Amino acid sequence: MLMTKEQYIESLRKMKTRVYMFGEQVENWVDHPIIRPSIDCVGMTYELASDPEYADLMTTKSSLTGETINRFTHLHQSSEDLIKKVKMLRLLGQKTASCFQRCVGMDAFNAVFSTTYEMDKKHGTKYHENFKNFLKMVQENDYVVDGAMTDPKGDRGLAPSAQRDADLFMHIVERREDGIVVRGAKAHQTGTINSHWHIIMPTQAMREADADYAVSFATPTDAEGIYMIYGRQSCDTRKMEEGADVDLGNAKFGGQEALVVFDDVFIPNEYVFMAGEYDFANMMVERFAGYHRQSYGGCKVGVGDVLIGAAALAAEYNGAQKASHIKDKLIEMIHLNETLYCCGIACSAEGQKTEAGNYQIDLLLANVCKQNVTRFPYDITRLAEDIAGGLMVTMPAESDFNSGLKVGKNGETVGEICNKYFAAAPSCTTEERMRILRFIENMCLGSSAVGYRTESLHGAGSPQAQRIMIARQGNLEGKKALAKNIAGIK
Ligand code: SF4
Ligand code: FE
Repeated sequence: MLMTKEQYIESLRKMKTRVYMFGEQVENWVDHPIIRPSIDCVGMTYELASDPEYADLMTTKSSLTGETINRFTHLHQSSEDLIKKVKMLRLLGQKTASCFQRCVGMDAFNAVFSTTYEMDKKHGTKYHENFKNFLKMVQENDYVVDGAMTDPKGDRGLAPSAQRDADLFMHIVERREDGIVVRGAKAHQTGTINSHWHIIMPTQAMREADADYAVSFATPTDAEGIYMIYGRQSCDTRKMEEGADVDLGNAKFGGQEALVVFDDVFIPNEYVFMAGEYDFANMMVERFAGYHRQSYGGCKVGVGDVLIGAAALAAEYNGAQKASHIKDKLIEMIHLNETLYCCGIACSAEGQKTEAGNYQIDLLLANVCKQNVTRFPYDITRLAEDIAGGLMVTMPAESDFNSGLKVGKNGETVGEICNKYFAAAPSCTTEERMRILRFIENMCLGSSAVGYRTESLHGAGSPQAQRIMIARQGNLEGKKALAKNIAGIK
């Protein structure tokens, strides 16, 4: 059964998820002003799925049950499915201008599904069956599942088992007849608090000595022993200000990251998808990362669309829209943004069927996609800031614009003075101009910049991670052979 946005939010209230922020436990995290926009953002994955206009992109038939499901819980059955995924993420980016978080779970489903199949074939384990049963339950209940890969990693020069503190990588601390006990943490975890379940995956390739660190499983978010420490975002406490609106830039939506701690959590056997098969850690990592690098060719493009629109509006409100350099900058932004989209579509169109039957993106093209995402959004934000002008970071507060305090010699208020001196083209009110500038500030430097700017660099793997994959997948030997052949070299 598909859930509505309201049912999703109500379902979160029933959970006992432990959340800490600013050194205190947050009891009612569903209604907390800093957290709520990120919940509403995930809520859009439900709202759009119940809108007939978007049914084709947002919903599909389950390959496991034949029932109608949200595409965020789907195993991709074709390259067309992969393309629709990218289009769905672009749509969500356009509707929220931030990170809507639910994609990490979808990417984990597809990576764990195909990896467990191949693992079982080699090791005679039963992980694939476990995973299919789990996913059926997720699809039937339309749950949000968080896909968690990134461990804190400690000293980057040491293997998991060689760390001074063994907990810096997630690991098995006890093997029981009925399951395993795990300890460790996942860092900068997107969408962790507002997910019903989590899928945990290893963070990197593992050797035999690291077998206890080669672990994958599913767990309810509020299982005993799990808690989260909320990540700060720039300008986050603006959300705590009384009546905050214009100053937030994006008052409706936002992203969310946290440190998730697993303090000896018991995982029953039926939810275990890897427990020591270190030779498959790398496959799971590469596939998940590949899917998530494809995702960025959708979500970041959608957010980019909104930012380009905002920059064009700022130009109009400044009365500068006819200047040829402004037109050219907007063209440049569109060119960069659509180049990202091309990569997202291309790695999907070149998708291949896995042994397990679902479709996987072309790994080389997905890594090229994400490598471009580590650069182009920086150029796009630079151009947006260029067009917007410095006022986006020097403007007085919303409360000044609304202030009735008399300051002028003729009794003008602070608000009247602000409105007088920040008025620009007659096509907008001063408040509309403020709104669009604060919105650009939010996407370039404020809380949504986590999702658009810095996440473009580090999310789904920092630039070097893609370069390693590009080196591995780039077939340099094949290219040398091409050159030798035509140049007449034996
Ligand atoms: Fe989804 Fe993009 Fe956020 Fe990743 S960064 S969870 S792909 S919206
Ligand atoms: Fe991300």
